[in-house]
Amino acid sequence: APLLEARSIGKSFLGNTALDNVDFSLLRGEVHALLGENGAGKSTLIKILTGVYKRDQGTIRLDGEEIFPTDVAQAQALGIGTVYQEVNLLENLSVAENLFLGRQPRRFGMVDRKAMREKSRALLARYGLDIDVDALLSSYSVAVKQIIAIARAVDLSGKVLVLDEPTASLDAQEVEMLFAVLRQLRSEGLGIIIITHFLNQVYAIADRATVLRNGKLVGTRVLRDLPRLELISMMLGREFEFLTH
Ligand code: ADP
Ligand code: MG
Ligand code: MG
Repeated sequence: APLLEARSIGKSFLGNTALDNVDFSLLRGEVHALLGENGAGKSTLIKILTGVYKRDQGTIRLDGEEIFPTDVAQAQALGIGTVYQEVNLLENLSVAENLFLGRQPRRFGMVDRKAMREKSRALLARYGLDIDVDALLSSYSVAVKQIIAIARAVDLSGKVLVLDEPTASLDAQEVEMLFAVLRQLRSEGLGIIIITHFLNQVYAIADRATVLRNGKLVGTRVLRDLPRLELISMMLGREFEFLTH
């Protein structure tokens, strides 16, 4: 059975249909790209999965159990973590404080800085990051911040990681660094949903792709078997004979 399975998801905003009868499934140890032109319904679908919006119709099962996430923290507690495009970390706190914000280890009622430092180091080691966790977050690059945000989300949720355009402000080398982290998480059995507009990146990191168009499911395909032109046709809803001459 899939790790996460959404069936017949429907969502309207004031009579405007954003999603109509959409199915989506995510396997353990899979990176799954969610694709489609602007307005296709990608963000609406992941907002439903992460508890930002409530679905009007359909079912969502995680590990076989139906779930009804009503906010982001609750979705996270159920196992679905997310990192938004604007990374939700605090620049003027240390890396360790960001990782354990709201749940710092305590001793005699005081924040246990030593324990927090050690837990932070151990957490980041999983991603190959060996950095000073007492330094302010602001001293690190966007890519490192992104990985810190992912480490926090995975630590809080642990089953599914949802990333909406995580590479938007990264250079090529930073994208590789991020993808190495995603490959590591995939090998540990996490399911990862990624939205990106860069098809090179889709082919570099994702195993399958689900394409939406105007709120409807076009299809889900294994990327290895999907020529790029066919993927683009799925996204745009038309053929490109002229490109094949
Ligand atoms: P995508 O992420 O693929 O660009 P969205 O999920 O953002 O698409 O949008 C799908 C449709 O739902 C669009 O027509 C958009 O205008 C509409 N929509 C999304 N969120 C809202 C909202 N909060 N209120 C009203 N309409 C919305
Ligand atoms: Mg949009
Ligand atoms: Mg969007």
